[in-house]
Amino acid sequence: MNESVIPASEPVTLKVQGTDKVFPVRRIHCVGRNYADHIREMGNDERDPPFFFQKPTDAILPSGEAFPYPPLSSDVHHEIELVVAIGKSGSNIEQAAALDHVFGYGVGIDMTRRDLQAQQKEMRRPWEIGKAFDHAAPCSALNPASDIGHPDSGRIWLAVNGDIRQDGDLGQQIWNVRETIWHLSKSVSLEPGDLIMTGTPAGVGSLQRGDVITGGIDGIGEIETRVV
Ligand code: MN
Repeated sequence: MNESVIPASEPVTLKVQGTDKVFPVRRIHCVGRNYADHIREMGNDERDPPFFFQKPTDAILPSGEAFPYPPLSSDVHHEIELVVAIGKSGSNIEQAAALDHVFGYGVGIDMTRRDLQAQQKEMRRPWEIGKAFDHAAPCSALNPASDIGHPDSGRIWLAVNGDIRQDGDLGQQIWNVRETIWHLSKSVSLEPGDLIMTGTPAGVGSLQRGDVITGGIDGIGEIETRVV
């Protein structure tokens, strides 16, 4: 291989629960809207098909590390989400085979500069500045499906300074994991290392410097960060 002219960036990885191994992250896909109560709180139509956006891979912030309040915004929101980790390549994946492509699951927070996202929506511009910024994807260690199976229900919650803000159930997802993989893999091929953040239940809200965020999904794991 030819010598690099600049320092190569560090690979982005997540810990794998119960092992000393890591999961190298390739892409971070996100589902725009996937819980009816959150769609209603944002004033959108819950019958729309799912749509996707991405966050940069190096936006991953491992659970336990501090979340630096990002620039340009005064309204940063938390969105607690189930994270699906892909372990096997595929495109046009049938729903019946979709779970064979899943390595495991984690708990993530889709950090959002809501004020900038709202501006961009109004101007019919991409959401990118609202969703894709440094440290915008806090994520727990991954839990292998070989250990925990494929949960399709379970409490998903987030608390700020101990007060519960988001409290839903995976069973409320409009598009379940099978359907999400089926939809997304029609658009792009999925490869080992891809993560899918699968949308958030109601209760999103603003964060302040100093806030301690805790969250979790029953049967999958927990996440913690502090806003600095
Ligand atoms: Mn989200």
